[in-house]
Amino acid sequence: MKIMKQIRTTKSKFIRVRCPKCNSEQAIFGKATTKVKCLKCGQQLTKPTASKAKIKAKVLEVFK
Ligand SMILES: [Zn+2]
Repeated sequence: MKIMKQIRTTKSKFIRVRCPKCNSEQAIFGKATTKVKCLKCGQQLTKPTASKAKIKAKVLEVFK
């Protein structure tokens, strides 16, 4: 679970998304400022902007 180490601030959230390409689900960091790729097919799931990530995958759930 290498994604877990990205929890650094309490304000941050994880979201569960579905890859638009291969339909596999994974949890990603909602405010990721780096590119997040699908673990299975490599499809880019977030598009980083200056302040927050733009999610390019289908959001299934937000972890609070
Ligand atoms: Zn995929």
